[in-house]
Amino acid sequence: MSMCPLCNGMSSIESQCSSCQGQMVDQGRLLDYFDDYSAYLDIEGMKLFDGIENDQRDHQCPHVFYCSNCQKEDTVLIQEV
Ligand SMILES: [Zn+2]
Ligand SMILES: [Zn+2]
Repeated sequence: MSMCPLCNGMSSIESQCSSCQGQMVDQGRLLDYFDDYSAYLDIEGMKLFDGIENDQRDHQCPHVFYCSNCQKEDTVLIQEV
């Protein structure tokens, strides 16, 4: 069984902002991040919403990263281990 190292607090991953090269901070799982919307969308709807179809099959956990420099948000697929 695979686990996302970020969700389980086993490691932290830093992502570099593509706009300012600054450090982006993990904001948590994409599905948790969009929790406000999940009341209106079922899990299949969420898949369509985030545009990532293979994250379950490929054992990747989509996380939202945020750059405080330019308020840019990015989705990073974290490889589960
Ligand atoms: Zn995760
Ligand atoms: Zn930035």
